[in-house]
Amino acid sequence: MMESFVFPGLTTRVVFGSGTMARAEEEIRRLGHDRVLVLSTPHQKADAEKLAGTIGALAAGVFAGATMHTPVEITDTAVEAFRASGATAVISLGGGSTTGLGKAIALRTGADQVVIPTTYAGSEMTDILGETSAGEKTTRRSPDIRPETVIYDVDLTLSLPVALTVTSAMNAIAHAMEAFYAPDRNPVIVLMIKDAMVAFRDGIPRLIEDPHDRAARSKALYAAWCCSTALGYVQMALHHKLAHVFGGSFDTPHAETHAILLPYTAAFNEAAVPELLTPIAEAFGGGSAGGGLWDFAKSVGSPLSLKAIGISEDDLDRATAIAVRNAYANPRPINPGSIRELLQTAWEGRRPGD
Ligand code: NAD
Repeated sequence: MMESFVFPGLTTRVVFGSGTMARAEEEIRRLGHDRVLVLSTPHQKADAEKLAGTIGALAAGVFAGATMHTPVEITDTAVEAFRASGATAVISLGGGSTTGLGKAIALRTGADQVVIPTTYAGSEMTDILGETSAGEKTTRRSPDIRPETVIYDVDLTLSLPVALTVTSAMNAIAHAMEAFYAPDRNPVIVLMIKDAMVAFRDGIPRLIEDPHDRAARSKALYAAWCCSTALGYVQMALHHKLAHVFGGSFDTPHAETHAILLPYTAAFNEAAVPELLTPIAEAFGGGSAGGGLWDFAKSVGSPLSLKAIGISEDDLDRATAIAVRNAYANPRPINPGSIRELLQTAWEGRRPGD
């Protein structure tokens, strides 16, 4: 018999394919806007200016100051630029940092958002915004945060460096991993993420060989959409909590932190709900979800240990204390001893279960 479920519907319009950035003007006009501010990081400023050039009179300017973890000071400056430009919508061209800035502007001004993602991090389909103020990162969810339209243009991902391609894909797989056991999972999301696991498994090794392989890029970006949808529509648990602890309190890099923790958090929860993680074990082999993900991570050169990103063994006690401070839903009950053990394995980079 089918499990009971609620399917909340998907509200964001998605345009996917090669060369789809050319549809930005049409998508902005479809939302009823005729002035739009284009956002990017400093690194992707030239791409943002190129896009602004192609949308002609629609472009109210470029703000190329997006930064990791959405600091509120940058948002304040961007909101000023948005208001001064006369724009009523934003186009966020880039990874999760740029999408985050677009969401922060939308929340403060009511702007509509068109997102053009260029990594696999998966912020574009979600109603989640993480912001930093005075060194503290806080996260909130609101329907006002969720972008109206996402344009996935495969061509823009051709330039994604191999290392970020790998860790960003692992970041996306982490959304799927937690969606498989989310208490509010539904069959549509599960179908999407099962497909995503196979697409990443097949696509990422090909991208290491040839980062410009358009067919493999297409598979990976499709998988990223599926995983972003999972992140945006069902609850996350221990894995995302731990990634937040390290990113927030130890300032570790976002995608690498997710990539490193993934096999260990998968193995931890697999002990409680092995049947729910079977699709991961089947996709990646290795006899278990945790083992399969570790083997895959190793084979694609993804970092495997917390030690490798500057965490000291002494930090693990503090990380454990922060991770268990507040209660949150997780398929396997959490206690300081078991989390400390998980972190020890992740710090050493040992294959889980060995
Ligand atoms: P990022 O957006 O910070 O990008 C990393 C760097 O790579 C930047 O300099 C960027 O300009 C560059 N880059 C991006 N795409 C490129 C491309 N195709 N070619 C060349 N360079 C490219 O990194 P990210 O991992 O995408 O995003 C991380 C941020 O997103 C974190 O702050 C995280 O908290 C947030 N995030 C939020 C959500 C959410 O739902 N709120 C989800 C996932 C991630």
